[in-house]
Amino acid sequence: MKDLRALTKYLAGLGYGSRKDVENAVRRGRIGGIEAGSKNLAPPFDGVTFDGEPLDPPPGMVILMNKPAGYTCSRADGGQLIYELLPPRYLARSPALSTVGRLDAATTGLLIFTDDGQLLHRLISPKSETPKVYEATLARTLEGHEGEAFASGTLVLRGEDKPLKPAKLDVTGERTARVTLTEGRYHQVRRMFAAVGNHVEALHRAQFGPLALDGLAEGKWRVLGAEEVSRLA
Ligand code: URA
Repeated sequence: MKDLRALTKYLAGLGYGSRKDVENAVRRGRIGGIEAGSKNLAPPFDGVTFDGEPLDPPPGMVILMNKPAGYTCSRADGGQLIYELLPPRYLARSPALSTVGRLDAATTGLLIFTDDGQLLHRLISPKSETPKVYEATLARTLEGHEGEAFASGTLVLRGEDKPLKPAKLDVTGERTARVTLTEGRYHQVRRMFAAVGNHVEALHRAQFGPLALDGLAEGKWRVLGAEEVSRLA
């Protein structure tokens, strides 16, 4: 019997079950590509399959999703959880998959997940200057002073002391605007418009750093390639 310890540990980490479950799967022949002569019993386990399918992406996975409204960026809050849109096995991975920051339940658009703790911390660190672009639909007509307030670096949100970093406002219609932020405070865009006497009716994140949705339909997701991840980091 070949030494399958590294492979069973790896598959358990990808969420294929406990190590016992994976050992049983080996016995039942559900794992392919490990027949006599195969030399793939160490990372990256090239050519190994589970139930005839290629294995899920290795640790270091980054996912881009177009978040629909009504889903919470949480693993446990009541209501519909954003993780329900991913394969259940992804929730059992170790290291665990997390969202890179959060979008409000009502906000739609570009959401990133990763199991790479270093990347996660780099991207959500207050020091990160990653620009995030939001498209807002407002309850009231823009008055013309909002861009200056957002760019000033002196705007203070209700309940806070520290001014916001300068943000960019591009007016795209009477009641629509694009906002570019380099920080990510709680409900930031909604609270920024509240601070200038308006109200956000709908909010969509269109870009996160170099990433855009590029036609990815609402509720859909894809795993980013190495080149896309390197641009993000
Ligand atoms: N700002 C908000 O108000 N909500 C979000 O979901 C993201 C940014």
